[in-house]
Amino acid sequence: MKSNHELSVFIDSGFYRFRSSNVFFIDPVRVLNRFYARFRISPSAYYSRFFFETKHAGQEVEVCSRSSKKRKRKQKKPHILNERERAADQRHREVKPLLLKAHEALLAATDLLTVMGELNRDYVSSTGYGIEQSFIELGRVWQAPLYEITLKFNQCYLTDQRCEQRVIPLFNNLVANETADDVEAEILDRRYILPRESSFFMSDLEQIHNLIPAESDCGFNLIVIDPPWENGSARQKSLYPTLPNRYFLSLPIKQLTHTEGALVALWVTNREKLHNFVEKELFPLWGVDYVTTFYWLKVKPDGSLISDLDLFHHRPYEYLLLGYCSGVAASSKHHSALRAVNNQTIISIPGDYSRKPPIGELLLECFPGFKPARCIELFAREMTAGCLSWGNEPLHFQESRYFLGD
Ligand code: SAM
Repeated sequence: MKSNHELSVFIDSGFYRFRSSNVFFIDPVRVLNRFYARFRISPSAYYSRFFFETKHAGQEVEVCSRSSKKRKRKQKKPHILNERERAADQRHREVKPLLLKAHEALLAATDLLTVMGELNRDYVSSTGYGIEQSFIELGRVWQAPLYEITLKFNQCYLTDQRCEQRVIPLFNNLVANETADDVEAEILDRRYILPRESSFFMSDLEQIHNLIPAESDCGFNLIVIDPPWENGSARQKSLYPTLPNRYFLSLPIKQLTHTEGALVALWVTNREKLHNFVEKELFPLWGVDYVTTFYWLKVKPDGSLISDLDLFHHRPYEYLLLGYCSGVAASSKHHSALRAVNNQTIISIPGDYSRKPPIGELLLECFPGFKPARCIELFAREMTAGCLSWGNEPLHFQESRYFLGD
């Protein structure tokens, strides 16, 4: 295999930058692994959707042919697009050339595809781990305030050598691993792994005001938000509760923002209604000025798109809308520097349903003005180094089943 600089950077970092373009490929497993000293993310647990598809390829084909027969029957009546669908179609047409170019670049990077194709080699079935812990359910019961987490520090980071374990409330409490090492934790006999320099606050939206810092210079300059937008498939699959749009208006973005301003990154699906809502209501109410859009293009391990680019209700891409929220001391210079950043396309193989690739470092590379980052992720399901993860299940992907050797 011809080795090149981009590939060796990718092997170490998980980021592959396509030369002279605004396209990145991310391997979340490699990126996340850099946050751990002793533990490693399990590729087959992260990419289980695609390992499963490969193992059951025969069944997949059958399901496809049955549903395509259905589709053929339905195709008799041509669907006339309503006004909102026409706007969505127009948005898609504008984005399409950029995404096609990004995809072409990926297909030409045969060295990268070879490395990613090898993921399948060490497949380990993850059935047999039993039912996952539901923090959403646990947080709703009357005993929730009584649940505790036991943090087991590898080395005692305090001077008092007896402090190797700490038992503290699980919900509505800031739980931090301030050490440079991974920390193992226990909740109701299950094991969780916390990356270095990370923290979480597990609560319902009703308690989010507890995160507002007393001093605004303790606020955050990078705010990543992945709201539980209402959508049919999350509801049907009962994966997590969703919320009507009006609930997101109450997110205290301004109060979470650092004195010197914050970069706000908001994940949005393809629904045109959401784009209108963000542009006309959400960003203005939060005090966020739109800056640019990044696109997340989803591919399979062989580099092919997860669905047809033109498939109306299942586009193989999502949007990351970027905006700027000014703080009390923010300068306009900071703001105009942001406007110079063009659209970028991030390509990756998706993990579990709605799991987003870790984009914190990439954002800081594109917007260096926000370093050192004081980062918060809202509606998080995992923890990353240097970031506070908030939501009703920020420990979801921290369970030991998602790590190798469990
Ligand atoms: N970014 C996450 C990832 O990459 O895995 C996915 C986030 S998912 C779209 C939305 C999250 O919001 C889910 O974990 C869901 O349980 C959580 N959520 C839903 N309702 C909530 C509420 N009322 N308070 C706090 N979190 C909530």
